[in-house]
Amino acid sequence: MRPQLLAVAALMVASCGAEHHTATDDSSAKMWEEFSGDNALRHVQQLVEYGPRPPGTPALEKSRVYIAQQLESAGWRVTRQAFEDSTPRGTVSFVNLIGTFPAGEPKPSPSFLLCSHYDTKIFDSARFVGANDGGSSNGVLLEIARVLAQRRAIAARVQLVFFDGEEAYVSFTKTDGLYGSRYFAKQLAVSNAARRFRGGIVFDMVGDRSLTVTLPPDSPAGMAQGIFEAADALKVRNHFTYATGGILDDHTPLNEIGIPTIDLIDFDYPPWHTPEDTMDKLSAESLRIVGAVALRYLGEAALR
Ligand SMILES: [Zn+2]
Repeated sequence: MRPQLLAVAALMVASCGAEHHTATDDSSAKMWEEFSGDNALRHVQQLVEYGPRPPGTPALEKSRVYIAQQLESAGWRVTRQAFEDSTPRGTVSFVNLIGTFPAGEPKPSPSFLLCSHYDTKIFDSARFVGANDGGSSNGVLLEIARVLAQRRAIAARVQLVFFDGEEAYVSFTKTDGLYGSRYFAKQLAVSNAARRFRGGIVFDMVGDRSLTVTLPPDSPAGMAQGIFEAADALKVRNHFTYATGGILDDHTPLNEIGIPTIDLIDFDYPPWHTPEDTMDKLSAESLRIVGAVALRYLGEAALR
């Protein structure tokens, strides 16, 4: 009996959604079911085909053009936040990509950040294409952007940020690594705009076939709870746990300026920062799990 009842309920939801889609346009009902792991994996494949993508390279510019085209074709507006910073290899030009969704009046301003870094770590003597590290999270974020774009009122409350220069040239210090997120956070802080954002999610290394999302121990407690609940509801709770040690990533500068931000990262990944970080280590299902949990968390908790 139960499966039948569920089927009837699902049909009712489906027909209501179809009838009222343009009228309400803000229903988050089941949007997580629309996330396609195959779509996300195709985006990652495309980025990986550009080759190694360190800051300032033509391959990274191709990535930018690809990401912007995908977002714009789904209805997002994309701006480039360009800046220079000094690195252990001299002055480097970086570009963050920022996506916002144009909405009708009254226009809600974005209040939640969804972020991913799209650069790959530079190696002089190895070909590092970063399928998981620098690739996977962008596939997830582009597919989330497509799903959100079906709901203008929800999409308009979100700002997408694709960070350049997450990777350190030598090792993470106050002045090496997190170039894009440090700059982005600083701009928000100096323009007094940080308070507009009530939270954020950073995606990083979310495609490992053997998926265990390891939340940093200093994750905002309420957000971690919300992610665990969303994972529970989707019956994928076994893929989410806490990391044993601290993790420095693009969420750090955002937390430092007072925007509670959680890092969805699977740091238990043996090919990390090796030439073995290639497409064969990833699965569409892992990307789907992370994308669906994030969308469920947004729809049922963060954007409520
Ligand atoms: Zn990395």
